[in-house]
Amino acid sequence: MGFFDSIRNFKNQLDQIETSVYSGKQSLLEVYERNLKLEAEIAARTKELDTANRQMLTLQHVWDMMNSSKPLSSVLNAIARSLQGELGYLNTCISKKMCDEKGDYLQLVSFSGELFGTSFIKFFKCEPTDLRLEFPKIPNIAQAIEENTVYQSTNIAEFIKSALPKVPDIIINGVVSHLRAKSYIMVPLAHKNQHFGCLVLFSSREDTTESELKFLNLFARQIELAITIADLFEMVKEQAITDAMTTLYNRRYFEEALMKEVIRAKRQDQKFTVIGIDLDYLKNINDIYGHNYGDIAIKAIADVLKTSCRSIDIPARMGGEEFNVILPGVDSQGGVIFAERIRKKIESISLEKIGNITASIGVATYIEHSEEVYELMELVDHAMYESKRNGRNRVTLAKAVNDTSWQEIAITTFLDILSKHRIPVDKKTSNLLIEKLQEMNINNEILYQVSDTLISTYNPEHISGGTRKKILLATLLAKRFDLPKENIDKLKIAILLYDIGNTMLPKELLQKKEPLSEDDKTFIKKHPVIAAREILEPISTIVDIIPIIEKHHENWNGTGYPNNIAGENIPLESQIILIVDSYFALLENRPYRHAMTKEEAINVIMQDSNSKWSANLANMFMTVIQEDYSD
Ligand code: GH3
Ligand code: MG
Repeated sequence: MGFFDSIRNFKNQLDQIETSVYSGKQSLLEVYERNLKLEAEIAARTKELDTANRQMLTLQHVWDMMNSSKPLSSVLNAIARSLQGELGYLNTCISKKMCDEKGDYLQLVSFSGELFGTSFIKFFKCEPTDLRLEFPKIPNIAQAIEENTVYQSTNIAEFIKSALPKVPDIIINGVVSHLRAKSYIMVPLAHKNQHFGCLVLFSSREDTTESELKFLNLFARQIELAITIADLFEMVKEQAITDAMTTLYNRRYFEEALMKEVIRAKRQDQKFTVIGIDLDYLKNINDIYGHNYGDIAIKAIADVLKTSCRSIDIPARMGGEEFNVILPGVDSQGGVIFAERIRKKIESISLEKIGNITASIGVATYIEHSEEVYELMELVDHAMYESKRNGRNRVTLAKAVNDTSWQEIAITTFLDILSKHRIPVDKKTSNLLIEKLQEMNINNEILYQVSDTLISTYNPEHISGGTRKKILLATLLAKRFDLPKENIDKLKIAILLYDIGNTMLPKELLQKKEPLSEDDKTFIKKHPVIAAREILEPISTIVDIIPIIEKHHENWNGTGYPNNIAGENIPLESQIILIVDSYFALLENRPYRHAMTKEEAINVIMQDSNSKWSANLANMFMTVIQEDYSD
């Protein structure tokens, strides 16, 4: 091979190398480009995943809210916040469709972020919640709402103009040109097959993507579900605290509110007044015109309360034709003025067929009359009964519980009995009791404990713990007979003491080995009743109750003891003690019979109508057991 041949050969080789280098470079470039594309794709997919992830989180958040039993307003606020925070809108709002004499409009009920920054307050001189979007004026929006489709627009100025018609265009255009928001999206929301409002989102972008709109649609359905659930929660909550017939609060709510009011009154050193209202002669209305008319009369009173109460007052239907109202911050004078106003309004009502109705009202004020809430309610009741006794259709202010309330009298009586050893309690026990009594403030629990302890010291079979039940039942019965508070107080003390004479039975008689003679039996029966006078007479504060105790074994038909008196000669209080004591005795086991059931005991009580007690008392007893008393 010649020199030139070698050169040519070499060049050919070089050309080949160059060609292959070139094609290698080409494929490298291709790979590089493909990589770039892939990278972009990965970035886009990651972004999509990220968005999807955030959308899932947002949905999850709404889901959590839905299950939180929060009020609707909090649910909507949280939804608005999560949409803005997690999905990057500038502002998200939920508006509710309203209607007034000027027509339909959308009102902002919740929004996240400062809607359009501080511009609102600064330029428009109003709060975002003052916005009133008269959407029928923007045909596109009206159509979207009508057709329940998503609407998107860049015309923010048009939106604001419709919401704030009084603000001049020049100001609106000026503010809008400085906004970061470039478009808004409206997603209609439905609730119970009706248009509820719209989800409104302000975005910094002018356009939207298909998937974004899809998500917003899905999201709107979640919001609708959240609204339905929150609405249901609210309905259930409302039903639990309102009385179905009158829509006033019910007893349960009243009692909770009363406890809260006491705590508030104590903390803020404030008064509050409770008034009790009872419709007069409802039974007559029911009997003459029928139950429906009775209901109409009850609702008429409820309406008077609704229109007369302030928003902070708590008007409640306690049951039947009994209403109570808590008046926070009101003293007794204000309470009486309020009660008089109610009374007059009720008196001026004229109902179809029934004509005029009236109500009797009682008023008592916290601390002024009592700082024991149960006692306060009892005083309201007593004042109301006094209105009834004095002729109905009137207002009575409670009398303050004076220093010698029945509890204090009872305590001092026990102390007196113990310290003077009028009953054979051993010295250690009596000293212990005296010490205990002197240390403590007056307290019902301890009082009952003391009475039971005292009784048990001379007759262990008597440990009943049932004194409280007896007092409660006797009080309910006494109230049914409209007994004044003073008499009920005496009755309560009599219940604590009516067995006290048992302690005076001679030991020899109780320990006698041979069978008791008829004389012994009569003595054992009569003596305690007589002995009670001996024990109690020296205690001046309770002399009034001695006749009640002395006659609590007398029967209506004159067959009782010790004096065989009959009928009206027996004080009602004594008859009440007899019937209450007999009832509880029937519920206990005795050596000669088993404890009876409640129904069996009531049957026995009814059988003794007109013999042991009056038929009237027996009937009333049955009513109280069935309607008022539960243990
Ligand atoms: P007064 O209060 O003036 O002493 O007489 P009254 O006729 O209203 O007597 P009382 O309070 O003893 O009886 C109330 C009656 O009201 C007994 C009950 O049958 C009736 N009642 C209770 N709840 C309702 C109710 O929801 N609707 C109707 N129509 N009657 C009711
Ligand atoms: Mg009544």
